[in-house]
Amino acid sequence: LAVPGVRGLSPYQPGKPIDELARELGLKEEDIVKLASNENPMGPSAAVKAAMNEEMAEMTRYPDGAGFALKAELSSRLNVTPAQLTLGNGSSDILDFVVRAFVDNGDEVVVSEHAFSIYSLLTRAKGGVVVEVPALNFGHDLVAMAAAVTDKTRVVFLTNPSNPTGTWNTRAEVLTFMQTVPANVVVVLDEAYCEFVEEAEYPDGVELLAQFPNLIVARTFSKVYGLASLRVGYGVSSPELADIMNRVRPPFNVNSYALVGAVAALRDEAYLQMSVKANRDGMALLTAAFAEMGLDYIPSVGNFVAFRVPDSVTGIEVYQKLLREGVIVRPIANYGMPQYVRVSIGTDAENRTFLKALAKVLA
Ligand code: PMP
Repeated sequence: LAVPGVRGLSPYQPGKPIDELARELGLKEEDIVKLASNENPMGPSAAVKAAMNEEMAEMTRYPDGAGFALKAELSSRLNVTPAQLTLGNGSSDILDFVVRAFVDNGDEVVVSEHAFSIYSLLTRAKGGVVVEVPALNFGHDLVAMAAAVTDKTRVVFLTNPSNPTGTWNTRAEVLTFMQTVPANVVVVLDEAYCEFVEEAEYPDGVELLAQFPNLIVARTFSKVYGLASLRVGYGVSSPELADIMNRVRPPFNVNSYALVGAVAALRDEAYLQMSVKANRDGMALLTAAFAEMGLDYIPSVGNFVAFRVPDSVTGIEVYQKLLREGVIVRPIANYGMPQYVRVSIGTDAENRTFLKALAKVLA
């Protein structure tokens, strides 16, 4: 019954849920460590919870379908107009709007090898043709990606930093790419993890918008803001592209708790900074331990890191062995990286539990 593009697809594979593993192992949920979906291990700020509790009193009415308050907060922080914003049920929603609005049967969409799987899934479902460009040191090869653009290309997806590799592209690389790609190709800069990046040469996609009306920046509250379960993200673009995306946006796609939670999250800058610092410390702990254990890893600027398992085992085997220890990570064979496992940075205690379990299963 499915349309041709959907016939060959497999559903997106999320990380294994904590309650499911707890049941399987006969453990309590609090005994499970989940470092599989790049969430903020500390959860959201207290200010977010307070704002949402207040909102709970009113659940009968539809949310503000235009997202006035969240757009006002975002536009003043990002120095853009509300007309440049598109709100999404997670940034996945924004990616979906892009494909629905700009990709038709037979159109080409350029992605990088090892990039987030949703780009291909959405494109194929719409009957688009995915053009996957080989990675360079696991990251996006922007020169090769620009060269892969043809007159059939409608959209290019760039992820900066990329998931699951944690690799990133510099401002100069992104600028050259944007200057090379024709203006009738929509370029999506997926910045789901941008808040974690501290590199001086890392570009702020929103600052590039003034020069490139064909650019769409996608961001989310799921990662550093700790609001993955609320499902809220946003796109920033020229008003023209935002207008087009808003035509395919379902009404009331962002619920009222997410709307108020997101505003409160943006206002709590101290919490953001604390989360970034905790991530930096956790990353240092994990990568030092990998080095000590003789495990290669891909240097990452996100809140996760992919490490290489010994040749005697596969990433999936290590994942399965860690599950038996009550630790959930992410094998990334489906990203063309069968010898790698991706682990999200957790709390200090979670990171140490993971490292102990990893040493045990590799012994
Ligand atoms: N982009 C990237 C690169 C991601 O890793 C994710 C989450 N895994 C998303 C977008 C979507 O996140 P959300 O829909 O929760 O905003």
